[in-house]
Amino acid sequence: MKDKSMPITIQHQYSLLKHNTFGLDVKAEQFISYKSVDELVEILAKLRRDGQRILHIGSGSNLLFTRDFEGTVLHSDIRFIEYVSRDSREVVVRAGSGTIWDDFCAEMARNNIYGSENLSYIPGEVGATAIQNIGAYGVEVESIIREVETIEVATGRRRVFQAAECEFGYRDSIFKNRLKGLYIVTAVVFSLSAIPVFHLDYGPLQEFKKLDVAPTAQAIRDAVIAIRQSKLPEPTELGSAGSFFKNPVVSIEAYHQLAARYTDVPHYVVDESQVKIPAAWLIEQCGWKGKRHGGAGVYEKQPLIIVNVHQASPADIMELADMIRQSVFEKFNIPLNPEVNYI
Ligand SMILES: Cc1cc2nc3c(=O)[nH]c(=O)nc-3n(C[C@H](O)[C@H](O)[C@H](O)COP(=O)(O)OP(=O)(O)OC[C@H]3O[C@@H](n4cnc5c(N)ncnc54)[C@H](O)[C@@H]3O)c2cc1C
Repeated sequence: MKDKSMPITIQHQYSLLKHNTFGLDVKAEQFISYKSVDELVEILAKLRRDGQRILHIGSGSNLLFTRDFEGTVLHSDIRFIEYVSRDSREVVVRAGSGTIWDDFCAEMARNNIYGSENLSYIPGEVGATAIQNIGAYGVEVESIIREVETIEVATGRRRVFQAAECEFGYRDSIFKNRLKGLYIVTAVVFSLSAIPVFHLDYGPLQEFKKLDVAPTAQAIRDAVIAIRQSKLPEPTELGSAGSFFKNPVVSIEAYHQLAARYTDVPHYVVDESQVKIPAAWLIEQCGWKGKRHGGAGVYEKQPLIIVNVHQASPADIMELADMIRQSVFEKFNIPLNPEVNYI
């Protein structure tokens, strides 16, 4: 019988410089990218036989490599956007894990399909959106995810998770917790809207509410991109992984104690017993805005972002993050947890 197996290209001692937006020059013992699910299944079988440790990455826009990676880094080049069904209300679209997320958002906006426009211009690939439950300007991707197609690392078996099984939370999912590292996302199926539905409560987007005519998805996408470009560092110009910490959620009692000392503390009510405090405000109150440590620094326009100012080492970034956490805890008694994935 003809051997149908494909040759696997393995790159050894591979620099991950172009695969992490912090711009850290760390190495992977092995690096493999693949273009199909069949290829992935074959690669996993080989890596299991070789007893290799595996890390699957997307664009590396939420990773902090703390050192070289001893094992195999996998990357998906499965790129497609496929229209599954469409009726007068709903458009179901399936996208390959390696598709650039913003290419997906651009295509939806162009075709007047609603739901992803507020999430425009978030760096990264489609596969990671389901791991991270990305969010911006009042929308989280869980609101448009219908299914997540995966391959189980241990067996190579296909498993489709319905959205309800993904245990989505704030920048969180089952894939970051109970099933961390156990499944590789190969495609995500999105349920979008054929009729205009908008989320315009965030600051500058509220301007759209004052218009006489309903905005298009494209107009909102353009506004979101303009806001992001004015506030966030462009990964190609200044290395970062976006928000370094999650916004802490505190009890209503803790919030009242804080508000008694700081009348201007910004907050968002989560429910009757919990309040979310912007981590950026806590960090700024501790005087960190624009401060530097080695090659790393706190972004002047947004103190929630740690940037690679000049040839930062992983240690520079980790030490700076630790100092920030410590000072916020000492001043406010509030622990900060990283949003960034430490590797
Ligand atoms: C400037 C900037 C702005 C940002 N703004 C936002 C924002 O507004 N909102 C927001 O939510 N995030 C934001 N981020 C963070 C980041 O863009 C998201 O977390 C994004 O989803 C990461 O995608 P990625 O492809 O780069 O994944 P990576 O960073 O490479 O990986 C993230 C995690 O997903 C896992 N993973 C990746 N692909 C797969 C796969 N196919 N199968 C299994 N596991 C996988 C990785 O192991 C890792 O645990 C920002 C980042 C930057 C640099």
